[in-house]
Amino acid sequence: MNMTTTITPPNKKATTDNETSKSGHEGDVSKADISTNESEADLGQLKQPTCGAVVTKDPLLDYVASLPTDLSNPTRQVSVPIALDNPTTHGAKTVAEFTELKRRERDGTLRPSEVEYFRYGTETTRRCEERLAKTEGGAMAALFKSAQAALTCTLEALLPLQPVRMEVVAEPSWNCQMTDYFNYAAPPGAFNVIVPPSSDLEAIAASITPQTSMVVLGSSAEGVSPEELSRFIQDCKAKNPSIVFLGDRSSRTPASSLLAHGIDLIVPPPHADAAVLGTGAGAVVGDKARVTRIAEIRGQIGTIASDSECLGHLTKCFNSVATPLTKETEKALAKVDAGEDALVFRSGMAAIHCTLSHLMQRSDGTRAHIIVGSEGYRQTLNILLDRLKPRGEFEISVIPMSDFAHVGKHLKENTVAAFFETPSNPFLNVVPVAQVAEELKMHGSKALLIVDHSFASPVNQTPLTQGADLVVPSLTKYIGGNNTVGGGAVVGSQKLIEPLRQIRDALGSMASDRDCQGVLDGLATLPERVMRANRNGMHVAQILERHKDLVRQVWYPGLPSHPDHAAAREQMKGFGGVVTFRLNAEDLHEIAAFADAFIANATPGTLLAPSFGGDDPLLSVVTVVSHFKQTRQERANRGIPLDLIRLSVGTGNEEALSSALQAGFEALEKARARRRLAA
Ligand code: PLP
Repeated sequence: MNMTTTITPPNKKATTDNETSKSGHEGDVSKADISTNESEADLGQLKQPTCGAVVTKDPLLDYVASLPTDLSNPTRQVSVPIALDNPTTHGAKTVAEFTELKRRERDGTLRPSEVEYFRYGTETTRRCEERLAKTEGGAMAALFKSAQAALTCTLEALLPLQPVRMEVVAEPSWNCQMTDYFNYAAPPGAFNVIVPPSSDLEAIAASITPQTSMVVLGSSAEGVSPEELSRFIQDCKAKNPSIVFLGDRSSRTPASSLLAHGIDLIVPPPHADAAVLGTGAGAVVGDKARVTRIAEIRGQIGTIASDSECLGHLTKCFNSVATPLTKETEKALAKVDAGEDALVFRSGMAAIHCTLSHLMQRSDGTRAHIIVGSEGYRQTLNILLDRLKPRGEFEISVIPMSDFAHVGKHLKENTVAAFFETPSNPFLNVVPVAQVAEELKMHGSKALLIVDHSFASPVNQTPLTQGADLVVPSLTKYIGGNNTVGGGAVVGSQKLIEPLRQIRDALGSMASDRDCQGVLDGLATLPERVMRANRNGMHVAQILERHKDLVRQVWYPGLPSHPDHAAAREQMKGFGGVVTFRLNAEDLHEIAAFADAFIANATPGTLLAPSFGGDDPLLSVVTVVSHFKQTRQERANRGIPLDLIRLSVGTGNEEALSSALQAGFEALEKARARRRLAA
């Protein structure tokens, strides 16, 4: 191939969107948040909490009482056990334990045996990465779901944050591999790709300009002596200090030679290490700063290799392309969400990222406008507000959740989508899907209505039947159901799904067969599990609401006190198994006393963890568990107070939850008494 490819940049005018919040980066949980800004409350004499039978006139109780309690249904048998793969928790049992893990993660001293959330790496991925870095002679390695994911995530990670184009000189053979990404998934206009007429070093050197930020070398690096390669790289680097070399370390090149001779990053072949043998997994190896950045973006996009892909000893279960099992899973997901077609992904974030990439592709070259809710999963907002928006790839309007019912006033000519979660994270706001769809229609808008209903699950709500165009559930949550499956999906009409297939494949973010099996098993028991979670959610919410002296506020869409209760009753069959509340606590010690006692007295699998939707309860002290990198101000901007707790109630029995709450309340009272005594 002898050509120069230039992708026309979109119109990059300054953005004037209304941004309500922005995430930050470093914060110190242990020091900064040990006391709170909340006004001193005179707590007075504490009453003994009563956690017995629920006595209320709420008519929803009838509904709650009608839910089944029997778990003897034989469909509950999981056909294939999913081992310890893809943990969605850190395994911490106390706030102190979790905080210490996070401190060590930040300081880079986390040991491989300390499990993290599956999208950022587990014990297994860390061990494999350490081994791979060692064999390849690099400081650090990052493992990916597929070789294509390694490549595209590296390009995304190295894209500068400013709205400028990145000039890439890509050897002809490499350009072929990247073409799908540049054509279907890359931000429009983000890359200017120059392809030299041949693969020899002279031709490549001649193509490098002062603007070149990246040179991608393939076979050219093989046919030359190491000295020649070194000289070439040093000469090129001297011309432009910002240049990054990405080299294909094909099986014929000695492992460490490319890094040793000045290549910054290498993409080892999938078969180079026994760890990734035959799994179709991909990797990037290089210096710590670059690979750390790539791993951070990989976490956001959600394309890490799963544990079993790293171990590579069950090869027939893994895949980076569609298989009969992925197709069967897609069919089942389309059915449960009342869509025509579905696509499965390595993670919920991978599904969201693919959908966003699709929205950016405008045939007229102009920049697309997207309307998103101010409340939502931190990583979804981070991708949009911290990464895509500063690069000018979207015009973004962040609107209060309550504004969606009148979304018409936010529409522009270039609006391509209205995107929200319902219920939303963490305050469980409920957006009336049918009303938003009606508004879009009334204004003659072609904008797609995209709904993340991970908190509801398709059992409680099928937004596609209410006017949504696409749904993007995280399968890691209720659908996977036991905190061991990682996956995501996009469901909708065939017409909308088809172009996404191409983008998913270009990004290399397909779900593995192993996770698909977990999803199919999860779907078999989904209705029963969700109904139990609904019942437990209502039970816990009502207990919390009764303890006004110990709990400042409770958010649960099933409670009449929730601002969106009416909308929830209108469109949801049940209100889900997540309850959010603010403890009436004065500092982190009191919050920890409650959380630790709750976990110690709950069913054995209960953990302090960020996920939700599994059988075991997961408690999240939001500040510590998911917003630990943000400063207090940044959390305040997103409306996250120190004492905010999110509880995924699980599917166990109500009594166990009642007594765990009782233990938590008692511990909180004792901690308060100690503080008063010390004052
Ligand atoms: N959507 C929501 C509402 C979430 O809470 C999450 C994760 O917590 C995601 C999407 C991302 O899903 P995953 O963890 O499968 O990438």
